[in-house]
Parts: sequence; C-alpha cells; structure tokens
Amino acid sequence: MNPDCLFCKIAAKELPATVVYEDDAMVAFKDIKPVAPVHVLIVPRKHAPSVAELAPGDTLLVGEMIRRAQQLAEELGIADRGYRLVFNVRKHAGQVVDHIHLHLIGGQALGRMA
Ligand code: AMP
Ligand code: ZN
Repeated sequence: MNPDCLFCKIAAKELPATVVYEDDAMVAFKDIKPVAPVHVLIVPRKHAPSVAELAPGDTLLVGEMIRRAQQLAEELGIADRGYRLVFNVRKHAGQVVDHIHLHLIGGQALGRMA
C-alpha cells in the first residue's frame, strides 16, 4: 500500500469506485471516464508503478489479471464480439495513474491502433 497512490486507496476502500470484481490479489472497477460502453480497470492490490517495474515473481499475477479480464468480458457480455486489453506504460503511452492496471475496453467497434 502506497499512501499517496489513488489505486491503492481504491483497493483499500479508502476511496469509492464501482467495483465489479475483487479477490485477495486484485480489484476491478469501472473507469471513471469510460472510452467505450464497457471500460473496466483490473488492478492488483500490490503496488507497482507500471509493467516496466514488474519482476519475475509477478508472472503469475499478470496472468491472473489477463484471465480475470477474459472472465469479466464474458460476464459483461462483450466476449463474443471482442474487446481490447491495454497496459499503458509510462509517459509516451499516456499513463496517468502510476499503479499498474489493465484496461478492459469493449461494447462497440474500436478504432484500429497505430
Ligand atoms: P492510464 O492512462 O492507463 O494511467 O489510465 C488511468 C485510468 O484511470 C484513466 O482511464 C482514468 O479515467 C481512470 N481513473 C482515474 N481516476 C479514477 C477513479 N477515481 N476511478 C476510476 N477510474 C479512474
Ligand atoms: Zn498503488
């Protein structure tokens, strides 16, 4: 827990969010500024700033985040038509919250990425 971190505070329930899933390792909640009808953030409880800081021991956690995204996509009804999973990493990707998170985005056709 980093006391200055927005997503650590949400994970600890010190700040509100619309939580759609949680377990001992992670929490998933609706993005406050969705870019599509479904926009969920999958956030590990353990603080790490970004993918750039991941260590070998984090491999299982990252796999579980992706698997959770797959299951949430099913539950939220976007799996058949498809969805996008995004990790923004540091400045050039536009990362604004420095606590690793996976975006699950779908519910409409999404523009092609560069
Ligand atoms: P990123 O650019 O990958 O760092 O994305 C951070 C995301 O967090 C953005 O899509 C924001 O809309 C979202 N966000 C910021 N503050 C909150 C909040 N309090 N609750 C939910 N989502 C948030
Ligand atoms: Zn944090």
